[in-house]
Amino acid sequence: AHLDRIAAVDGDVHAFLHIDAEGALSQAAASDARRANGDALHALDGVPIAVKDVLTTIGLPTTCGSKILEGWIPPYDATVVKKIKNAGLPILGKTNMDEFAMGSSTEHSAYGPTKNPWKLDRIPGGSGGGSAAAVAAFEAPLALGTDTGGSIRQPGAVTGTVGVKPTYGSVSRYGLVALANSLDQVGPVTRTVLDSALLHELIGGHDPLDSTSTTAPVTGLVDAARAGATGDLKGLKVGVIKELAGEGWAPDVMRKFNESVDLLTKLGADVVEVSTPSFEHAMAAYYLILPAECSSNLAKFDAMRYGLRVTPDGDPSAEDVMKASRDAGFGDEVKRRIILGTYALSSGYYDAYYGQAQKIRTLIIEDFNKAFEQVDVLVSPTSPSTAFPLGAKLDDPLAMYMQDLATIPANLAGTPGISIPAGVSDVDGLPVGVQLLAPVLEDARLYRVGAALE
Ligand code: GLN
Repeated sequence: AHLDRIAAVDGDVHAFLHIDAEGALSQAAASDARRANGDALHALDGVPIAVKDVLTTIGLPTTCGSKILEGWIPPYDATVVKKIKNAGLPILGKTNMDEFAMGSSTEHSAYGPTKNPWKLDRIPGGSGGGSAAAVAAFEAPLALGTDTGGSIRQPGAVTGTVGVKPTYGSVSRYGLVALANSLDQVGPVTRTVLDSALLHELIGGHDPLDSTSTTAPVTGLVDAARAGATGDLKGLKVGVIKELAGEGWAPDVMRKFNESVDLLTKLGADVVEVSTPSFEHAMAAYYLILPAECSSNLAKFDAMRYGLRVTPDGDPSAEDVMKASRDAGFGDEVKRRIILGTYALSSGYYDAYYGQAQKIRTLIIEDFNKAFEQVDVLVSPTSPSTAFPLGAKLDDPLAMYMQDLATIPANLAGTPGISIPAGVSDVDGLPVGVQLLAPVLEDARLYRVGAALE
């Protein structure tokens, strides 16, 4: 049914870069056989899933939305991919994304943009617009995304889906082609909070192949979602982040957000305002730390080992080949960040830029710690506006970066976050998302509150 749906709508939506109909059908048949046999099944056995094209998959192309990896077939599965395969989830295919996960609209994909299924002239968010659009368009019931600065939560907000960034290190990054190692997390994209909890528990847990993997067990999320679904939030303390509401936010987004806050009060939560003064510097710190890490990560695309190789005429040196290949293979946004990161890390500038950004990061962690002494969860709108028209911010990198104002602090601090649909705007009828944030390793709180709000 999902393959039929993909065949019917993906020509318009373009959520997928690669569809594996044959593989999905044979995995589905294997699941049917297990069911007929009376085998013990995982709750999601046989439920199809779409996978962001930044996660490696044996036998399926993995492009990261870039020309530089066109045609590359990874020889290994990401740990999360291994886990979904072992649990019997058929993989429908790989989803579109901004090149190397840099962007907020999926327009930086080298393979053309994904469209928002709610309105095809609008962006689906980014960088994981393909995963969010696939779920929103009913092409897949579940998807995997990655969130370095908001790439699961912001697409979730603008497509009316649920998106979760787990606690840093609680889901393995092995086989995730790194954007920025200290910020990246894999997480679920679904239509309900309970679906996210089921998928999150499945993909979470310690992985010896990821040196930043936490050892704490990832459990209790499904129970928390079920408890929250009763709609009782008595005794819960919620903090509205003062710095992430009000000015700079679209009035229709704020109206929906305020309705969600009212609902929290109605369900018995005690809602107060909380201040996190360092959050206003989060964007500036992020756009130094991220380019610094990605400029180093992307150095491996040198045309010598794998990926695109462009050989200039004449008698080119290895350096000429690298230069021509990287020039042809990387898009403008990727080049912009490599230049920025290389500059920020260069000797003489390291302390002034990277060092300062790391100090801001510590201040943001301290803000979170202080806030969580007062409240159990924090709440804000996920994204400053509803889905904007395709092309509207393509020539203005700063305007594009602003989309992640509310989502970036959690990546800098390693804390978990979720975006939940909060209804549609009274201006354009497009979805608005509300973001919940919890302390490190307290992901279960997001599911309890999320399921109550849903
Ligand atoms: N939009 C942000 C960026 O461009 C977030 C990216 C992400 O989370 N992968 O960096």
